[in-house]
Amino acid sequence: MVDRLVNSEANARRIAMVESCFGSSGQPLGVPGRVLVGEGVLTKMCRKKPKARQFFLFNDILVYGNIVINKKKYNKQHIIPLEEVKLESLEDDGQFRNGWLIRTASKSFAVYAATSTEKQEWMAHINKCIEDLLRKSGKKAVKVHAAVWVPDSEAAVCMHCKKTQFTVLNRRHHCRKCGAVVCGPCSNKRFLLPSQSSKPLRVCLNCYDTLSRARVQQNNMGNPTDLSLSKEAKERSGSGDSSGEEDSDDEDEANRSQQDTSAHDEPKFYGLSEVAEEQKQ
Ligand SMILES: [Zn+2]
Ligand SMILES: [Zn+2]
Repeated sequence: MVDRLVNSEANARRIAMVESCFGSSGQPLGVPGRVLVGEGVLTKMCRKKPKARQFFLFNDILVYGNIVINKKKYNKQHIIPLEEVKLESLEDDGQFRNGWLIRTASKSFAVYAATSTEKQEWMAHINKCIEDLLRKSGKKAVKVHAAVWVPDSEAAVCMHCKKTQFTVLNRRHHCRKCGAVVCGPCSNKRFLLPSQSSKPLRVCLNCYDTLSRARVQQNNMGNPTDLSLSKEAKERSGSGDSSGEEDSDDEDEANRSQQDTSAHDEPKFYGLSEVAEEQKQ
């Protein structure tokens, strides 16, 4: 069905619209063969708290950004190649309902839909795109995924030593391997995680031990760790965001973004209805 949208005028128009909403803050999105499959607002779990983000599902990438003006202007565009994505459904937990994880080699996070139906729709459409992509390219799904970061608010004390209370001076840090919130002394080691960066990243003492032991074992087996970087990892490390100290790239600048959370818009998915329309004719 998505294939039938490839050359449709409506598809080209929709992609141009997405591009113009991001303006100069975004990448050109109109590439041959690309189809906009669906769009809508999801709540993304960020480091400090959940935030509304506009998501666009294409047949090869997932794009999201901050909402500056609902349906008109977005910024802070993020592009995730779907080939790298794996979804994991989350159980409902208190106020966090209808959620799932979007996991990739370099970044993983939770998103929440407004209703369980919308969750099913999003997950089904994303999974379908991933399947189609992998089938066409003959590639295998990525096996190693970045940890999902524990939100700051869930850790009043360090999750490693269980002692250090976080304050303005005792800052929270995130282990890049397990995602735990830990204090400075409990995360004073670095380890090379090639799927995330070309530079060694902050890890907690637990993960440092585990990773070091695994490396020693590998070396003893005469099988040195392959430290060569994937092309993608190299590109990422060139983006200047690999020091590991820039904790999150998706924070709002103050609270400038005007998010209209009062009215709920249902997500739109384009493939199905249009093909149904065509078949009726
Ligand atoms: Zn600690
Ligand atoms: Zn860890």
